[in-house]
Amino acid sequence: MGSLELIVKEIQKWDNFILLGHVDPDGDCIGSLFALKWYLDSCNKSSLVLLAERPDEKYGFFGIEKSDYQLFADYQLTAMEGTCCIALDAGNIERLGEGKELAEKMFLINIDHHIDNPGYGQLNYVNPNKAAVGEIIYDLIKEDGTSLLNKRIATAIATAIISDTGGFRYQNTSAGIFKTMSNLMEAGIDLYEVNRAVFSNYHFSTIKLWGRALSSIKLAAEGKIAYLRIDQKALKETGAALDDSSGLVNYARDLKGVEVGISFTELEENIVKVSFRSNTDCPVHEIAAFFGGGGHPRAAGCTIEKDINQVEELVLQKVKEYV
Ligand code: AMP
Ligand code: MN
Ligand code: MN
Repeated sequence: MGSLELIVKEIQKWDNFILLGHVDPDGDCIGSLFALKWYLDSCNKSSLVLLAERPDEKYGFFGIEKSDYQLFADYQLTAMEGTCCIALDAGNIERLGEGKELAEKMFLINIDHHIDNPGYGQLNYVNPNKAAVGEIIYDLIKEDGTSLLNKRIATAIATAIISDTGGFRYQNTSAGIFKTMSNLMEAGIDLYEVNRAVFSNYHFSTIKLWGRALSSIKLAAEGKIAYLRIDQKALKETGAALDDSSGLVNYARDLKGVEVGISFTELEENIVKVSFRSNTDCPVHEIAAFFGGGGHPRAAGCTIEKDINQVEELVLQKVKEYV
């Protein structure tokens, strides 16, 4: 797994960094990327976050500046001498999307918490006991022994932690995370503001989309599986964005008696993103891996290139073997 101490020592050796996250970055990914970037800034090191798209406006509240990141489309993808690449929250190298090519050419530090991470970096710190990569970034800053935790960094870390623990409701929530949160609150974060940004403050079109998706919900395996779909028709008719569908899968999982909740999102015709959530014991990362994806035991995903009806059938068949 490598130790955090080794990561800190390695970071101290370099002056320039490129920071990469996973495709369709969530709160843990965005929060961790910018917390690390601002920490490196405070260490007088130069760093750049590379993204496929502008960060979702919902993360705007923690103060991301245009100069803090660059889009792949505007960036000359060349590996630079003397620059270290750090990948965050990406369970495998494919998850880096457009960043993969660059990561393969550079010295790569892989910092993650996915249990199925194969350790694709030159230096790896993968800790599945951590609920969020944001928690690891916090530990890393502490390990450095400096007191560089300002309000902006703390807010980015809190966003990461609150996103990946579902506001401390998921099984990955540990006693230690509350100690970390206590320190983040002492650093001045506004917990209400973070929660509101992560879990509410919806667009009207989002709620309309949710209405459509929720009314599509079905049960299988005597009520142990619940699944719903977000198809292109619903997306177009409500005017919602793909991002607006994240979180819907939790409603399927949260039904009484359900062990596995699944959402089927039609990204394009014949390309379906499948999200899995389980309640207590079904290892959904294994199911996702069967279809070429991955994730955590309680939250996982994959993308299948088939018609949405066919995908539903195939996936349900597999999940039924587990419940
Ligand atoms: P999501 O359903 O997109 O919220 O993802 C839940 C978890 O599964 C996250 O930890 C993701 O990193 C992981 N995951 C989602 N899609 C994939 C994929 N195609 N390959 C590997 N891991 C994935
Ligand atoms: Mn993530
Ligand atoms: Mn994560």
